[in-house]
Amino acid sequence: MDTADDEAARQRLVASLRERLDVSERTLAAIAAVPRHAFVPDRYRSRAYDDRPLPIGHEQTISAPHMVAVITDLLDLDSGDAVFEVGTGCGYHAAVVAEIVGPGNVYSVERVPALAEAARDRLDRLGYDVTVRAGDGRDAFAARPAFDAAYLTCAPADGVPDRIVDRVRTGGRIVAPVGREGAQRLVRLTVGEAGLNREDHGGVRFVPMR
Ligand code: SAH
Repeated sequence: MDTADDEAARQRLVASLRERLDVSERTLAAIAAVPRHAFVPDRYRSRAYDDRPLPIGHEQTISAPHMVAVITDLLDLDSGDAVFEVGTGCGYHAAVVAEIVGPGNVYSVERVPALAEAARDRLDRLGYDVTVRAGDGRDAFAARPAFDAAYLTCAPADGVPDRIVDRVRTGGRIVAPVGREGAQRLVRLTVGEAGLNREDHGGVRFVPMR
């Protein structure tokens, strides 16, 4: 259920993100549309609209809203773009991206089968048409046409694996936290004819990619 209190808390969160971040209104509208309280365990419901990560079990977390906003914004998405997410977790970020690209355009993979299954059910119940698969991001959706964009919500220590980069078309974008715990950077890669262009977007903290 989305109560008036949830709606008010979500609006306050969006107002604070608007003040603190340089992100588009389209990204903020997507955050404003997704009921984050439906993605957190019951015992954290009262903190669902705090701008912080929260535990979701299996030693994993739901990302902080500002990180979801920054990554989503850097992907530079349009309606109809096909997007690849590595690390579904509870499915929150996938729902935010689905608000922008529309139904059937988000493909997400999660290593922990129980999380993948719970996220699939939750997204379905909330009306999000997102494809969720259990498995390793390095192998998932290899038979699909190249994606317009990809992002990781777990951090590979040695840079984005080639097998993930190869899933994205020329001109596409990849946003990921990369590096060892304690020294991760958020990077945006743009796939060019002549190779990858890499931009650094500052220090971040994510769970490691397994
Ligand atoms: N997208 C989530 C955040 C998930 S946390 C949100 O909306 O808040 C990162 C997730 O990446 C964890 O659930 C973890 O299990 C998963 N993960 C780690 N290594 C992975 C891999 N190699 N392939 C797929 N998922 C992986």
